[in-house]
Amino acid sequence: MTDPRRRLPAVDALLAEPEVAALAATGPRGLVVRAVRETIEAARANGGSAPPEGWSAAIRARVQRLAAPSLGPVINATGVVLHTNLGRAPLSRAAIAALARVGAGYANLEYDIARGARGSRHALCRDLLVELTGAEDALVVNNAAGAVLVALSALARGGEAIVSRGELVEIGGAFRIPDIMARSGATLVEVGTTNRTHLKDYEAALTPASKLLLKVHQSNFQVTGFTAQVPAQEIAAVGHARGVASVYDLGSGLLVDLAPWGLGGEPTVLQALASGMDAVAFSGDKLLGGPQAGILLGTRAAIEACRNDPLARAVRADKLTLAALEATLALYRDPATSLREIPVLRMLTEDVAQIRQRAEALHKGVGKDADVVEGESEVGGGSFPGAKLKTWLVRVTPERHLTPDTLAARLRASDPPIVARIADDRVLLDPRTIFPDQVETVARAVRSALDG
Ligand SMILES: *Cc1c(COP(=O)(O)O)cnc(C)c1O
Repeated sequence: MTDPRRRLPAVDALLAEPEVAALAATGPRGLVVRAVRETIEAARANGGSAPPEGWSAAIRARVQRLAAPSLGPVINATGVVLHTNLGRAPLSRAAIAALARVGAGYANLEYDIARGARGSRHALCRDLLVELTGAEDALVVNNAAGAVLVALSALARGGEAIVSRGELVEIGGAFRIPDIMARSGATLVEVGTTNRTHLKDYEAALTPASKLLLKVHQSNFQVTGFTAQVPAQEIAAVGHARGVASVYDLGSGLLVDLAPWGLGGEPTVLQALASGMDAVAFSGDKLLGGPQAGILLGTRAAIEACRNDPLARAVRADKLTLAALEATLALYRDPATSLREIPVLRMLTEDVAQIRQRAEALHKGVGKDADVVEGESEVGGGSFPGAKLKTWLVRVTPERHLTPDTLAARLRASDPPIVARIADDRVLLDPRTIFPDQVETVARAVRSALDG
């Protein structure tokens, strides 16, 4: 018997099929050719049998899939507010408006309008950050990993940087402090132990080659039991006394205290600055609730050194980031406005009774095979590790023929895709992260997934 894979049609033969030829005549030909090739490959991988729906239909469907943007909106029904896989912080209306305003045309990104001459992009969010935080100076780069890299390069290159063994962390996406350190040109000096590090450990490690003391916030894990860490304030004091720089990698950029909403323990940006560290680094798209960005705040000398470091150019922020960040930061001028307008803060501080109402509405929309139960949401994004926020969940228990995995897959296949949680053989939908104007859409998708 001949291998059926050898009888697969040729690309040209399929392109000559009337329906495919029509696609190629009206649409981008390169895209249709790619779809034809991939459809043949898929058939080959499938043992050589023709697509069940027929070649032309399979090719048409693939053209449609390939033409759709690969990056698109999804509905986050997981209840993880800062979901790194789902793009972390949704932007405020003000930030979206700023993106549109600046992205559509030319902008004064590096142009001083008053002088009619070249300006600096570094001036753009600087004054606002200084106003909001009281820091002497500020620098915005592409992300917090970049900010830490720049700070280490500017302040510790060619020398030793001292870090506690309890803070040699890995943050999602393979950001590891020892690797970043190596790339920055600083030599890592580890002090203390995994669970306990004392001030005397830092002091004993200081040598003439020491250039920097680094503190890294344990943003995505907790060490419990017999533990000791040195507060930032004490590290900063040793740095000042011994003439070495100090940097605090804070991770999340919390600008308002969320303790009244049961979220305590995460240092705020103001607390980090008050510790006296020379520079503090944090993300724009974690608790700050803005676009992906890395923000450095600190003394005039430290930030100036960072700004002048060649790596600052390599990780500089673009005009869209700066526009969205400026608009986000401006909302913090009034804390009440920030809590209302910045989606991340709104979701984290939302009254649980309101979440319950949304759960009831969703439950009503779904109708059958569901109930409303108490549960917990997560902050996510390497912030407030271990913190649980009380929420109300819509728990979907499909009939026996439908597994939770299949139901969840159907929800992901809806438009827009809906990402849910699965626990105890049930699909859980957390309205904390489902926006009010998405409830209808989710209800409809769940109904159709249950019936499909
Ligand atoms: C998240 C995090 C980073 C990296 O931030 P990005 O903005 O994703 O680059 C660095 N340090 C700490 C402590 C973090 O939590």
